[in-house]
Amino acid sequence: MTAQDKGVVIVTGGASGIGQALAQGLLDEGWRVLGIDVQPDRIDAARREMLAADTSMLRFAQADVTDETAISEIVQDCEAAFGPIVGVVNSAGIARDIPCLDTEVDIFRQILEVNVIGSFVVARAAARHMRARQAGSIIFIASVSGMRGNQGRVAYGASKGGVVTMTQVMAVELAQHGIRVNAIAPGPIETPLTQVVHTPEVRSTWESRVALRRYGRPDELRGTVGWLMDESRSSYVTGQIIAVDGGFTAMGLPGPWQQQAGTA
Ligand code: NAP
Repeated sequence: MTAQDKGVVIVTGGASGIGQALAQGLLDEGWRVLGIDVQPDRIDAARREMLAADTSMLRFAQADVTDETAISEIVQDCEAAFGPIVGVVNSAGIARDIPCLDTEVDIFRQILEVNVIGSFVVARAAARHMRARQAGSIIFIASVSGMRGNQGRVAYGASKGGVVTMTQVMAVELAQHGIRVNAIAPGPIETPLTQVVHTPEVRSTWESRVALRRYGRPDELRGTVGWLMDESRSSYVTGQIIAVDGGFTAMGLPGPWQQQAGTA
């Protein structure tokens, strides 16, 4: 790494929604970015859409985050040919909105596999390299559904609750190696995922429960990620779950203007 070279941040789910926006934000702030995503077509589209002033700063790898062998190889190749990994943003994830009594065990397992195990696989692979350098910042994208009982989220909410606890455990264990581990818990964010999962009724309910009365944009998470990634600005922050949720988790008794659903 040269003096100006900030190192590589791995962004899983980096070819869509929140992950893509965060990857672009990190590029804009001078990090090199290795995006990992599962669909080749989406990776090609993201590559075209993303503006890396210097295209040598952005790479993509196609893999399923639950594939331990593939992730281990990607991380090794990155260290050897792209640069030292200084950060991870674990944004790859899947969601379903299903009442608990209708939730099949198979779908529950699938959600846990991607959201919890997949995030762990990537974080562990990167942390093993960070340990040697005694530095690094790992960010999990959790969810407010991992902090509150949101109807329809028995599997998704449990998976994100698992991510919350995983963040705290890894922060405690990896502190001795100079690695900080935090999570961001977004509220409803306008992405391809919510466009599929959120019906008009669900959308209207979210808008009535968010103090700011609107969905967030993926780019509204960039500031928190940039801050957590930058050791000089967040060196004493680890093990935290930071809600970026328009006030959803803060909201108690709403004002009259907040009770009119769908008027955001
Ligand atoms: P998104 O637009 O669907 O982006 C997620 C990306 O991850 C997609 O490209 C997806 O590919 C990919 N992915 C899924 N499973 C994968 C796997 N096994 N291996 C590698 N890549 C995989 O979703 P998003 O809304 O940006 O969500 C990003 C993260 O934020 C998720 O963890 C989500 O739970 C969390 N989150 C989102 C919101 C929200 O309101 N949007 C709120 C709270 C938390 P496919 O499309 O092929 O699945």
